Amino acid sequence: MEGLLNLTARELSGKIGAGELSVREAAEAANARVEEVEGDLNSFVTTTPELALTRAGRVDERVRNGGVKPWEGVPLVVKDVLSTRGVRTTCGSKILEDFTPLYDASALRSFGESPVMVGKSNMDEFAMGSSTENSAYGPTRNPWDTNRVPGGSSGGSAAAVAAGEGWWALGTDTGGSVRQPAALCGIVGLKPTYGRVSRYGLISFGSSLDCIGPMTRDVRDCALLLQATAGHDPRDSTSANVEVPDYLAGLEDGVEGLRVGVVTELMDERIDAGVREVTSKVAAGLEAAGAEVGEVNLPHAYYALEAYYIIAPAEVSSNLARFDGVRYGLRVPADGVHEMYRKTREAGFGAEAKRRIMLGTYALSSGYYDAYYAQAQKVRTKIIEDFRGAFSRYDVLVSPTSPSVAFEIGAKTDDPLAMYLQDICAVPASLAGVPAISIPGGLSEGLPVGVQLMGDHFTEPMLLRAARAAEQAANFRFSPRP
Ligand code: GLN
Repeated sequence: MEGLLNLTARELSGKIGAGELSVREAAEAANARVEEVEGDLNSFVTTTPELALTRAGRVDERVRNGGVKPWEGVPLVVKDVLSTRGVRTTCGSKILEDFTPLYDASALRSFGESPVMVGKSNMDEFAMGSSTENSAYGPTRNPWDTNRVPGGSSGGSAAAVAAGEGWWALGTDTGGSVRQPAALCGIVGLKPTYGRVSRYGLISFGSSLDCIGPMTRDVRDCALLLQATAGHDPRDSTSANVEVPDYLAGLEDGVEGLRVGVVTELMDERIDAGVREVTSKVAAGLEAAGAEVGEVNLPHAYYALEAYYIIAPAEVSSNLARFDGVRYGLRVPADGVHEMYRKTREAGFGAEAKRRIMLGTYALSSGYYDAYYAQAQKVRTKIIEDFRGAFSRYDVLVSPTSPSVAFEIGAKTDDPLAMYLQDICAVPASLAGVPAISIPGGLSEGLPVGVQLMGDHFTEPMLLRAARAAEQAANFRFSPRP
């Protein structure tokens, strides 16, 4: 069993395909690991051990007849923002405490009838946060040091994968929520190109930014999970009708001649020295592997955080309007409908959700719209132009994923701005809609450091190939923590 937990998802899938191992045995190993470490970590809002076994049994039957896709038998962790048929989906919020969807999110469709799911992972409420402390179900702890946060908002997914509670996970990334927790937990996390993975069944946060992405043990697993989830979906009008390439083909082809630019604006004193050092080492590793490495500017990256923290709250203030005690989840009874809305939303939303709703409503209100929302959109255009310029000269841009390693639980909960500053390296790619991946680059202060690689729209095959080379240069071997 121990041995199984050390395998990558692809290795596990290989053993299942070769008949050396049943999916049920894999699900049992994941369930046992959850039993062992969950008390310390709180990676899940809901665990689904019985369901994992039932679904494993069904995949096993199909394995015997052939035709099972390589990802289907590998137990998966699903962030609690993705709808799962018959399994409650809380979004980390009290307002959805008893909400059970009637269908699976489209991103899960290629897992046959339904995925072999270990559970629904913990997250910041409605995906707003960088530490998983904004969950109504208690914070998740980092498996590298349980006094520290796992990052967020997909902190439960990251901790679960890092601890071996599942082989891989789906997270969502609006402004870094796949990449930053992946960085802080020593795993790989990819935010694909906006529109690459269908969001049908994803509970919306910032609709012009939200992406579903893989969180995995290595880059090959990441390519495989992207393969499982990418593709056009008529049910999501923002889903891109762009052909899905083979993400594993060419993955090992190396970076000879690839033009790599290290982003100057994301390597300044706002980033901890240890994090910068690891990032530079990975860039040097790419150069040693044959890439042409230089420096690149994204001049408006300094303003990305400000723009993001207008646009994302504006969108969330609109998206969260649907939670009114009528259609979904919690209802606090009261005299009259307005009083019922007010009491339901007051009791159902946590402090950060309320803060964002107020910020967003303010930024969109008449008289302030031009000064805030419209201005932020202009900045966003500047950032998109920055990336366009950079990609005319470079194939891949490199930066840290997060300005620091995992911080202590409680260190930033009283200071929202300090928490928002966690996202400075992640939000530029989100605003531009380009793909970005975080790989474990090494350690600083004994804790993992993530290095971010960004590519132009729909260049995931090239980006994954560069990330694979970077991962090899960093020589960081995954093993479950603690
Ligand atoms: N930390 C960022 C925020 O709080 C990003 C969250 C996300 O990507 N879902 O908005």
